[in-house]
Amino acid sequence: MVTAFAWWAILLNKKNEESFLLKNQLLQYDSQYSVTEIKETYDMQRRMIMGEGLVFGISIILGLFLIHRGFWSEIKSNKKLSNFLLSVTHELKTPIASLNLINRTLVDKELPSDKIKDLLNTANEESRRLESLVDNILMTAQMEQSYDYNFENINLTELIQSRISRALKINPNRTIRQDLESEVFCKVDQEAFVKMIDNLISNAIKYSQVSQPVEIQLRKSAEALTLNVIDLGQGIPNDEKKRILHKFYRIGNEETRETKGTGLGLFIVKQIVDAHKGQLKILDNKPQGSIFSVTISNKNR
Ligand code: ADP
Repeated sequence: MVTAFAWWAILLNKKNEESFLLKNQLLQYDSQYSVTEIKETYDMQRRMIMGEGLVFGISIILGLFLIHRGFWSEIKSNKKLSNFLLSVTHELKTPIASLNLINRTLVDKELPSDKIKDLLNTANEESRRLESLVDNILMTAQMEQSYDYNFENINLTELIQSRISRALKINPNRTIRQDLESEVFCKVDQEAFVKMIDNLISNAIKYSQVSQPVEIQLRKSAEALTLNVIDLGQGIPNDEKKRILHKFYRIGNEETRETKGTGLGLFIVKQIVDAHKGQLKILDNKPQGSIFSVTISNKNR
């Protein structure tokens, strides 16, 4: 189309020139027009052809650009969705299969008590994983349907301590250091804040080695309160820092990735931070790892 329009403009321009030359020749026989009038008409028509050509050309290029962008964003969102479906199917099937297996073993076999305890512990872990996955999916759905935030003045220090204890119960082999200022109060939605803290702690654990401790800091200043979840894990490349906040986004490829997840955790965290008028920053930890930092200004508390 662009070529057709360019050709059309060239042809029209040619016709305009031909008509200009003919009119000049006709001047000898007919003095109805003056040379300046003919020249003015010629220039005006030339400008018109160029102007129209330019408008059509820009419109077509703009249209092509918009179609191209829409097409790619559709492809990208389909890819993310299929990534999500792949991982959710896997995430749902694995714990269910393992729970079925444990059930059948417990029913069919006479086992010593320590073996039974092991199996029950595994069952516990699997059902917790299932619970957290379903929680994240439900929370995302609720947030998209406008989640009803219920802000109350809450002791954040105690709330964070209780979430650390829970994380340690689920991951008894991990070290979580805490550096929490005491008696920090803030107006938050408790259920949402619990989800936010749990997701940040579970990511810090998931994306670092067993030997690498995780640290949680809670600081209060005259201007704001800050919650930092720090790990010594693999870290996050700069160009991925914004993308990981998008729904279903996970770094890498679903077929080759080792860690389990759905790409919903940080999307939920971001929505919750925004709802509390806070700021979420993803920083590089030194010498390695990441810092997820949530700041809520005292003006918004
Ligand atoms: P999930 O953990 O279920 O994949 P999230 O939304 O919580 O989903 O995280 C999105 C992606 O961000 C993860 O797949 C991971 O690649 C990356 N990520 C999140 N937290 C960390 C972290 N602490 N260290 C390194 N990478 C992280």
